[in-house]
Amino acid sequence: MGDSRAPMTSWRLCLPSSLLLAAALAAEDGASGPRAWEGCYREGLRLKASGDLEAARRSLGKATALDPRHEGTRRALEEAEAALRERLLGEGKASIERGDLRAGLERLRRAAVLGRGSDREEVQLLAKHSYREHRGEWLHRDEVVAREKAEERQASARRAALALGERFRLDRREDARIFTDHDDGEVLPFTERLHRLIASLRREHARLFAYLEPGPATAERGAGIDVVVFRRREDYFEAAASTDTLGMFLPRRGASFFYLGDRAPADLSPVLVHEVVHQLDFKVLGLRYPPPWLEEGLAVCFEGAGVGPDGRIAGEPALPADQATRLRTACPPGSPRWWGMGRLAGLVDLRPLQGTEAVHDFHAQAALVVHHLLESGPAARELFFALVERARRPEARPEHGLRDLEAALRERGTAVEELDRALVQAAERLAPAEEAGSGAPAR
Ligand SMILES: [Zn+2]
Repeated sequence: MGDSRAPMTSWRLCLPSSLLLAAALAAEDGASGPRAWEGCYREGLRLKASGDLEAARRSLGKATALDPRHEGTRRALEEAEAALRERLLGEGKASIERGDLRAGLERLRRAAVLGRGSDREEVQLLAKHSYREHRGEWLHRDEVVAREKAEERQASARRAALALGERFRLDRREDARIFTDHDDGEVLPFTERLHRLIASLRREHARLFAYLEPGPATAERGAGIDVVVFRRREDYFEAAASTDTLGMFLPRRGASFFYLGDRAPADLSPVLVHEVVHQLDFKVLGLRYPPPWLEEGLAVCFEGAGVGPDGRIAGEPALPADQATRLRTACPPGSPRWWGMGRLAGLVDLRPLQGTEAVHDFHAQAALVVHHLLESGPAARELFFALVERARRPEARPEHGLRDLEAALRERGTAVEELDRALVQAAERLAPAEEAGSGAPAR
């Protein structure tokens, strides 16, 4: 994390108040602590003024992740990126004029990812030298072809590893693979929509976690996304070893499995989103053995972002309306079905709860925690990212959930009891049940 030397100012207290935030702001913690946002913001401004635009961009990017609604941070980040792009373009052109094509193109590639639009000078210069955009990077035509071949080989390898049999067709878009035994006619529009959903989920997932340093390398990173959609219920039951769900991500097989019936209905988006997010957490974020509350809370909050009519994720991760209803009616604070943070974080294995109401209560309350951490200002978001960082340490295990939470809170001068109180307040602030919609998707 960035600088923590910046002086504390009182205007941060204008943010939505919660006990957690107040306690965190009051704590005298170090660089990774509650003043992380302020540290990153001020450090970013300082670096920007000094002309170190790359470092300014990193610092301001972190500050934006911690407080996405802060206008000044966003603006400063945009300005730093625009200035960096200008500089790289100028240096790139100068290098090419000097005859150093390699260095010039390298600068232009870095400039190209910082702006939008195809009429930009760096984009046109790159195109002249056979470079094109490939999944967020600017690559030489030959490199693109090599990567596409590698993706095709990878797809064949995954097909073999999943051992699905000949009747399963593969519909691949880059490194996202959908395997299905549905008939062409009924399934093609669906795979099209599902590919769009996967691509937009990947973007939103990457955006949320852009603040994190690249985590420890895992065998799964870069392995692509695999989704299997079964036509027959019994095949799904056999593959997923589950009779009471419609979708499941199986880390050992590295794929998300779904049974969507003979015709894929439109309203199964929540299940699809949920199980693909589990896969992204595992493969992209490197959450191999996360505590269930964090894993499930995240997946449910991504459901809450909603899916637009175009099949793309429509908003930010948030508590879904049906979960808010459950929290108001079935398991409100103070009721016997309210778990509290200690019990949520202490749960190691969700399987014994499958098929019971308790699993739905757990999902709703875990989602409330994630929602609360994402929505209650920079100190809470910083805690959220710190918890994700802990969960993706190679030595992390689900049974460390409570211990890791306690340690992270202690570092920030607060405790589980305080987070608990903030959660009760968050639940009590939820919209009344009758305004919150209804219906609970299976997961
Ligand atoms: Zn789940």
